Amino acid sequence: MAIIERTNERTNERTNERTNERTNERTNERTNEIKITRVIKKEKRLTIEFSVSHSIQKYFKTDDFWCEYAEEIEAVPNSIAVIPFLVNVLPIAWILDIEIFVDELDQSFLDSIQHFKQGYIDLYPELDFKGEISVGETVFNQSLKNNTQKGLLFSGGVDATSSLIQLIESGEKPELITIWGSDIPSDDLEGWTNKYSITKSMGQELECPCTYIQTNFRKFLNEGDLGLLVKKQINDGWWHGLQHGIGLIGLAAPITYLHGISELYISSSKSTDEAGRVANIDTIVNFLRFNQTNVINYQADMSRWEKQKLLGGYVDKNNLELPIHVCWITTSGLNCLNCEKCFRTALIFILNNVPLYKVNLGHFSSANFTNQFFKKILPALAGGPELVTKTWRSIFKAAEEKNDVLQTYHLEWMHLFDFEKAIKKERVKFQIKALFLRPIIWTYQNTLKQSNVIKKGIDKLLGQN
Ligand SMILES: [Zn+2]
Repeated sequence: MAIIERTNERTNERTNERTNERTNERTNERTNEIKITRVIKKEKRLTIEFSVSHSIQKYFKTDDFWCEYAEEIEAVPNSIAVIPFLVNVLPIAWILDIEIFVDELDQSFLDSIQHFKQGYIDLYPELDFKGEISVGETVFNQSLKNNTQKGLLFSGGVDATSSLIQLIESGEKPELITIWGSDIPSDDLEGWTNKYSITKSMGQELECPCTYIQTNFRKFLNEGDLGLLVKKQINDGWWHGLQHGIGLIGLAAPITYLHGISELYISSSKSTDEAGRVANIDTIVNFLRFNQTNVINYQADMSRWEKQKLLGGYVDKNNLELPIHVCWITTSGLNCLNCEKCFRTALIFILNNVPLYKVNLGHFSSANFTNQFFKKILPALAGGPELVTKTWRSIFKAAEEKNDVLQTYHLEWMHLFDFEKAIKKERVKFQIKALFLRPIIWTYQNTLKQSNVIKKGIDKLLGQN
């Protein structure tokens, strides 16, 4: 068995640390492991059965991981078929210093691990990335078809649609790959039917083939407990901070093998100059490789504003409609137009002179988007990502020069609204709450509620004993 040593330390200085780590890891290696026990490929369904050490069982909700594809996947070699599972457990292995055992693995993927792991190390210097993967046999794979196709992970939102448009404008017709089990739960048939109908109509409109992957990749892990391992250090959860990015991309490995996809694109969810950290970043995902497929984090240099402007320009030039779905509240495929994200997206389109009905925001009503409504969503902005606040700042700045547009949509209140002052005030409120209220709530939830003595005392005071 070939043991693949850790590769996260590159300098001599760090070699010493590695030695210490190895000493520690060897103490643990017999108890901390994830082992792939069986790879089952039956018609369209891929199932990875696995076992884990007792001490880490609480991080897993099931002992099987599955993906169901839109076509038969029996021709996919096991060395590729294990990748969808591995990309979703590698971050766990790194954080908890676990050894993963797999019988066969694609050589390109194995070689790429050290490189995309380095991206995580650089992104989160406050975390310790350990762990290793032990492989029985490595395999050089070649796709079933000529490597001439492109693929795009396609959610139907602004980022994905903007990537699609730019690819089309550069002469590509990428295959759209939509994941069922990410924002739409893998058991929500109605939500999925609506979502996939958007992918299909987009594909039809722009002459791109479509496919999908249904999977339990978010349900097989205990995201809550995993999040607790990193929340304090990186101020982010497991999905957003560690899993998404490689966890989504690797699901498509069997499709890239079957369809001969040479480049697989994932839309960047933040531009390189924007604040905030996220696992879907080019210094991580661009280093992922499997089979003969390269992965590209697309439009990393574009802000959301620029992406929506690009979409508006394309819609206008080609006189067509794009069924974009941006809402986090609804799963119906429609946009609720009553949440912060719908509001933000609609305003950017409006300020770029894009008719809302052309981008699936046709029911916009100025009666909904009032000063009062904006004040209601301000508290969420104060506690939310800096990226979103930055976008709102651009919106108010652009509105200063768009008198005619504001009048047309009865949004004149935006002229009078002092965004900087309002967000500053909300942030102070948020910090006060965080300083005083949260410790009180935490103490109540973790101490008082669990203390029978205090509970009895309170009950006695209340005359309930
Ligand atoms: Zn909405």
